[in-house]
Amino acid sequence: MRWDAQALRPASGEHGADNGTAAAPAAVPLLPLAGLVRSVSTPEFAGVTFHEVTAKSVLNRVASGSRMPFEWTINPYRGCSHACVYCFARKSHTYLDFDAGLDFDSQVVVKINAADVLRKELARSSWARQHVALGTNTDPYQRAEGRYQLMPGIIGALADSGTPLSILTKGTLLARDIPLLKHAAAQVPVGIGISLAMTDEELSEAVEPGTPGPRARLKLISRLREAGLPCGVMAMPILPWLSDSDEALDSLFSSLAHAGATGVTAGALYLKPGTREWFMQWIAARHPELAGRYRRLYGTGSYASKEYRTWLAGKVRYFKARHGFSGSHGFSHRDVDDPRGEEAAYPEGSLPAGHAGHAGAAQTSQPTLF
Ligand code: SF4
Repeated sequence: MRWDAQALRPASGEHGADNGTAAAPAAVPLLPLAGLVRSVSTPEFAGVTFHEVTAKSVLNRVASGSRMPFEWTINPYRGCSHACVYCFARKSHTYLDFDAGLDFDSQVVVKINAADVLRKELARSSWARQHVALGTNTDPYQRAEGRYQLMPGIIGALADSGTPLSILTKGTLLARDIPLLKHAAAQVPVGIGISLAMTDEELSEAVEPGTPGPRARLKLISRLREAGLPCGVMAMPILPWLSDSDEALDSLFSSLAHAGATGVTAGALYLKPGTREWFMQWIAARHPELAGRYRRLYGTGSYASKEYRTWLAGKVRYFKARHGFSGSHGFSHRDVDDPRGEEAAYPEGSLPAGHAGHAGAAQTSQPTLF
């Protein structure tokens, strides 16, 4: 196996397979990563370098005073090859001295000992079995999971310890773990959310180039429901002028209803610093006719104008009602513990939320959540 043939090497070296079949040279990390075992790239994951690290801890406590509706998170990966242009975990990559743009998509840190470390942390007498949220910063079922298979060990460790868990993902790799999730759901409360905010395959390919497309995610929702598991949907971000038309919203909510989603939470694009620059660059390149409109809509802030959000909220209410989602709430990590289903915002410890943020950032109010 080409992957296994690669030499153990420090991150400061040139990346690529030793057998000469390496993919394009990978970017060189600027800092030694804590616990780095090796950095590898392989033709199967062209353009992506995985930095395998041994973590000392994987349970992250959410900062005290946070309004986040959960206390603990686990993120087995940092960076995400799903490469969503709007991802607002991007800035968190700069804390590793990677950049928030291409490095976020292509320099993925993998906590290879996540399950072992987690079992030790869960075995402590001080562990109070509080709800643990997965997918709060980056996607736990991104492509690397097919290779590293960290999630089965993590799910098993949480369930065996009596710890409730929730997962938010765009990754259809989750289907692999449906039997395990069913088993876990018999032991502890389990919440599952799929992130899907558009049905336009072409738009998805452009703006979320590394993800399984909308059709594949809709199939995943159906499979989860057929397996008897709950499945909420995080329909964020709705993109102004790209996925907010009546036709687009009708198609989205209709498809989600058809697939059997148990609820939908929708919200507008949120452009925090770090994401904003990357997204605006993309808009300017792919939709130059919209660049000025986006600048005016977002001004110097992170949120779309209040008028736009109010307008979109009305549309979302209408289409939710039309497709039978009235009264249902969408996915929230908190649903696992709290049937009121407060709308979620998603931190990574003290870091701003990313992947889930599809749920927007609600560090202040939650104007993008409907
Ligand atoms: S939004 Fe989620 S799936 Fe997309 S790149 Fe960010 S972490 Fe990955």
